[in-house]
Amino acid sequence: MAERVNHLPYFYGSITRDEAEDFLKQAGMTDGLYLLRQSRNHLGGFALSMSFDRKCYHYTIEKELSGSYVITGGKSHKSPVDIIEYHTEEGDGLICLLKKPCNRPKGIEPKIGPFEDLKDHLIREYVQQTWNLQGDALEQAIISQKPQLEKLIATTAHERMPWFHGKKSRDDAERCILRGPRLNGKFLIRERDDKGSYALCLIHGGKTYHYRIDRDKTGKLSMPAGKKFDTLWQMVDHYYYKSDGLLQVLTEPCPNPDHPVDSFGLTPAPPVPSNHPQKSPMADRCVSAANLNPYMPRPNRLVGGADAGTRRDAMPMDTNVYESPYADPDELQEKTLYLKNDCLILEEKELGSGNFGTVKKGIYKMRKKNISVAVKVLKSNDPAVKDELMKEANFMHQLDNPYIVRMIGICELECLMLVMELAEQGQLNKFLQAHKDVSMTNIVELVHQVSMGMKYLEEKNYVHRDLAARNVLLVTQHYAKISDFGLSKAINSEENYYKAKSTGKWPIKWYAPESINFFKFSSKSDVWSFGVMMWEAFSYGMKPYKGMKGQEVVQMVESGGRLDAPTRCPDEMYELMRECWTYKANERPGFVTVEHRLREYYYNVSKE
Ligand code: AMP
Repeated sequence: MAERVNHLPYFYGSITRDEAEDFLKQAGMTDGLYLLRQSRNHLGGFALSMSFDRKCYHYTIEKELSGSYVITGGKSHKSPVDIIEYHTEEGDGLICLLKKPCNRPKGIEPKIGPFEDLKDHLIREYVQQTWNLQGDALEQAIISQKPQLEKLIATTAHERMPWFHGKKSRDDAERCILRGPRLNGKFLIRERDDKGSYALCLIHGGKTYHYRIDRDKTGKLSMPAGKKFDTLWQMVDHYYYKSDGLLQVLTEPCPNPDHPVDSFGLTPAPPVPSNHPQKSPMADRCVSAANLNPYMPRPNRLVGGADAGTRRDAMPMDTNVYESPYADPDELQEKTLYLKNDCLILEEKELGSGNFGTVKKGIYKMRKKNISVAVKVLKSNDPAVKDELMKEANFMHQLDNPYIVRMIGICELECLMLVMELAEQGQLNKFLQAHKDVSMTNIVELVHQVSMGMKYLEEKNYVHRDLAARNVLLVTQHYAKISDFGLSKAINSEENYYKAKSTGKWPIKWYAPESINFFKFSSKSDVWSFGVMMWEAFSYGMKPYKGMKGQEVVQMVESGGRLDAPTRCPDEMYELMRECWTYKANERPGFVTVEHRLREYYYNVSKE
């Protein structure tokens, strides 16, 4: 949301209440003069400052769980801008109507909050430490989960601040703070118990004072009768600039002697052992990889530690199919296309069936670990069919991306078997048909992940040729992988497309006009299919062009007709689908653009 308001001339970013009043004064304090600023107490919240009768008034705009915005006691609106527009016509509790924006003076940009500067550094380090990721795997984790990671970091960032002393008794805190100069305003915060309550220890007039910090039912923190905050660092930041009931403002952090401080003024996370997988002590407070079985149907919300602030959904990195099983160098030594037959145990459970035969669940014993796998068992011994499956296997073996089902290898017993990563929640369309309560933001998250996988394929000059919701498999409700590479091809980089010699059993309703008319397949024709896949996702697994024959669909598309927007589909998402269905391939966006658009939209809708 901050991105969406940043361009507004009357948005000032993370300025204090006093600074807002100064700007209003400079602009004349006329009745109904107003400005918007970022809340310093509530994550994702705003504040509206205005003047009337030569006085300043401030209203907190909080973001509700539903994603809408509200001035306490007022009506809910889609965005802070909608609140402002509403109050230019309706007083509805405000001291007067909003009349004139108090625009930023020339040269003044929206002020970046203290946390914004640190955020990217903290996120990167957190992901590295918690999931032991590096390189592409690290980048992809950050891109796909940024909104969740930001929230996680915001609620755990205090653990890295020098003033945070963790669990410490009142006596120990006093001993610590009284060591060295007894500066007025020197302070530390310690953890009191496991229920998320803390205490502030502050020096004033050479003496120490203790203030309790309690957490209410909604997770907000406050000192008795004090302001409420979402996070400890926001609270500290506030009392740095205003005493607001304390004996005095905070001035000097009393550094935690157990931790050195890095160049960002933060306590570096402790070193982690190099064996894999591992987790840092920070990760103990949230869902750790060890606590999760990615193959279990997962409830919508997972409860992490005792701390209400760390409640969260599982992320792709929490599962053990985020990185290739061969990411471990010890396992990599044994990576070959043909696997040892005696290491594969097939289970009775059938996961599905396709053109080649059945897909069964199994366990594959690797050198250091056993992994759950999906095994495509070929039903026929026809050499031509075998050859086709081998092509698929060879193709998949070259791919390694978190948003693509990886091939572990091949086993050959009585029949040929393709051993793949398991995505137990099954096909995206079926999952959404059965789970109509999945939120739009959740669908945007999944579709964005598919675009990341497709961007990777595009980069490698491969075409999928069968992208559809039925070929997007879910590991969890928040983790999608592209599968079924039976029709995939490498494209010659000079020509930019693959030309089929003849038609086959083609998924016409997913195909771009140039594929149908000229048998031409490129990443751009995959983009067309991606648009149809998006349509399926946003319509909760409905069949596209229902009741129409392939040829009728071709005619409709040729004469400019396109699928209608699914009910409840956000406008921005339908607009993107329409662009994916641009008739001319060279005018259609590529996956770099599609991924970027989805990323931006996803970050915006998931920010609180
Ligand atoms: P396919 O022959 O690739 O279309 O696979 C047939 C069906 O088996 C799919 O529609 C899925 O329901 C299931 N399936 C295929 N691959 C996997 C996998 N890696 N994990 C879980 N289920 C799978």
